[in-house]
This record gives sequence, C-alpha cells and structure tokens, in this order.
Amino acid sequence: MRLSAPPQMEITMMQASEYFDLGLKFHGHKCPAMPLGLRAGAAAMNALGVERSQDKELVMQVETGDDHAAGCFVDGLMTITGCTYGKSNVKKTYYGKMGDVPVDVEIGGQALLTLSL
Ligand SMILES: [Zn+2]
Repeated sequence: MRLSAPPQMEITMMQASEYFDLGLKFHGHKCPAMPLGLRAGAAAMNALGVERSQDKELVMQVETGDDHAAGCFVDGLMTITGCTYGKSNVKKTYYGKMGDVPVDVEIGGQALLTLSL
C-alpha cells in the first residue's frame, strides 16, 4: 500500500462524517454498510493522499458482489470518493469481498483496503 503523497502537495484529510448526510440522501435508507463504505473510502484516500474525484482522477475497483449489504457499502464508497458508475470510474470485480482499490490515475498510486468482519 502506498502511504504518502508527493511532499509538495497539501492534501486535506478525508473525514467520513462530513459525507454522512450526502451518503444518506444518495443511498436512501439508514444501514451500517453505507457508513462503512464512507470510512473505507476515507481510509483508502488518506492512505493514497488523494482528494475526491471530480472527473476521472481516480478509478476505483470494488471487490464486492451483488448482495444487498455489498451494494450499500459501494454507495458509501461512491459518495466519498467521487468515483461513480455514471462517470465509469467504478469497476466491480465480484470477488465477494467488502473491499475497494482506488487508483490515482495521474500518479499511478493505489491502495488496497479490505474489511475483515
Ligand atoms: Zn443500505
């Protein structure tokens, strides 16, 4: 896992709590998996030293399948990372894991983050 940003860049640390309301509106119901996705996304982005994707600066591989909680988790990830299916910068691998791999397209860095439940 790449843990540092280039030293000349000042990156704002992502805080999952700042995206909770937006995530709840986007996702539509209260559940534990969407906030877990927010936290996982924030942790991965902070490890990479990247900011929320406005266009296609990040590409995210999600390792989930299609079960209900996995979709909730991905909604949290999409909310905080700015990677969306609409922008085609989310790829689902169907490994059946609650994990994500955001990749910074410009610097080529990536972080693998998986949850152990
Ligand atoms: Zn949910």
